[in-house]
Amino acid sequence: MDRDFEFAVVGQGLAGTAVAWQLRRRRRRFLVIDRGDPHAASRVAAGLITPYTGRRIARTWKLDECFGAAVAVYGASEAETGVKLLHHAPALRLFADAAERDVARGKIDPTRFDRAINRDWFAAPHGGFDLTPAARLDTTRFLDAYRTLFAEQHAYRVMDFDPATDVEPTADSVRLPRLGLTVRGVFFCQGVGGVGNPWFPTVPYNPAKGEVLTLRIPGLGETRPVHRGVWLAPVGGDTFLAGSTYDRADHTPTPTAAGRAAIEAGLREFLKLPFEVLDHRAGVRPVLLTTKPMLGVHPRWPGLAILTGLGSKGSLYAPVFAAQLVDHVIDGRPLDADVRLA
Ligand SMILES: Cc1cc2nc3c(=O)[nH]c(=O)nc-3n(C[C@H](O)[C@H](O)[C@H](O)COP(=O)(O)OP(=O)(O)OC[C@H]3O[C@@H](n4cnc5c(N)ncnc54)[C@H](O)[C@@H]3O)c2cc1C
Repeated sequence: MDRDFEFAVVGQGLAGTAVAWQLRRRRRRFLVIDRGDPHAASRVAAGLITPYTGRRIARTWKLDECFGAAVAVYGASEAETGVKLLHHAPALRLFADAAERDVARGKIDPTRFDRAINRDWFAAPHGGFDLTPAARLDTTRFLDAYRTLFAEQHAYRVMDFDPATDVEPTADSVRLPRLGLTVRGVFFCQGVGGVGNPWFPTVPYNPAKGEVLTLRIPGLGETRPVHRGVWLAPVGGDTFLAGSTYDRADHTPTPTAAGRAAIEAGLREFLKLPFEVLDHRAGVRPVLLTTKPMLGVHPRWPGLAILTGLGSKGSLYAPVFAAQLVDHVIDGRPLDADVRLA
């Protein structure tokens, strides 16, 4: 076993950063490896954490268990890095029609209806409600802050890691020949880069591309993310992010005219103010057919672990499931049956 690194983490998106965070908290020595995909989902994401989604106002899976843990991890991360990362405040959900309002009536505390909706900014004939608990993680700042911290500790390597040739597992360790290291374990946290990883061929990937616009909207003073089919999230001054699309056929991170048009059309349904598009980006979400995260260790080689399937909720799920996987690998604690690698 190499004296310097006990573990390697492949991928520094939300999943890999959360795994490294948990290893660091347990004072384990690790090396983070990332090839620097500029379009990684975690770098395109808006980082929104939302308690209800869709027209059926469905409660987010495992919200109660995951929200508090996410806030605690990102709060501790702010204290550790000195960087503001989490905006913890309610969001606003506008109703598209009377039917949506009826659905919400059975689920949402009525005192949360129709509070502080500015009708100069938004067309909202059916009103809306406060989404709470909700938050927004500045994902790029989070990743950059930890990349800097890991690099300062000589625990970060920019490398296009090939799982097929760069990993040689044995019964109780893993050799990484190109790095000249032997470690106790490798955590694969590659997002959609994990499609084709030969150690985990059964992960049922069903990737979904998403596009995001950066907008300048002079005169819009809304401080909450606003959801109505598409979402609009304030990121400072008159700058907002808007998204997103869900495309299961195209797995390239290339922005499309159709994606931009769909987001703009969705915005015009409720936003009364004109906007200017400053930027347009796309990424591919690591969604699985199970629609849940997936984590576990290789059935034959216990040194090989994976965390994937964060889908469209990486900010919410990464902290809890990274902790669960690290506890499993280090202490043999059981994994939640809903997310255990099949
Ligand atoms: C448009 C869009 C909007 C979204 N909005 C939200 C949102 O509002 N809220 C939310 O919670 N989630 C959102 N998501 C989802 C969220 O982004 C994902 O759940 C999350 O980013 C997945 O993180 P990950 O670490 O698994 O994967 P990734 O972010 O893809 O990270 C994988 C990392 O692994 C590296 N890597 C891969 N293969 C290799 C290799 N062979 N060698 C070295 N490095 C490698 C890549 O460079 C990358 O950095 C959104 C996603 C998209 C695309």
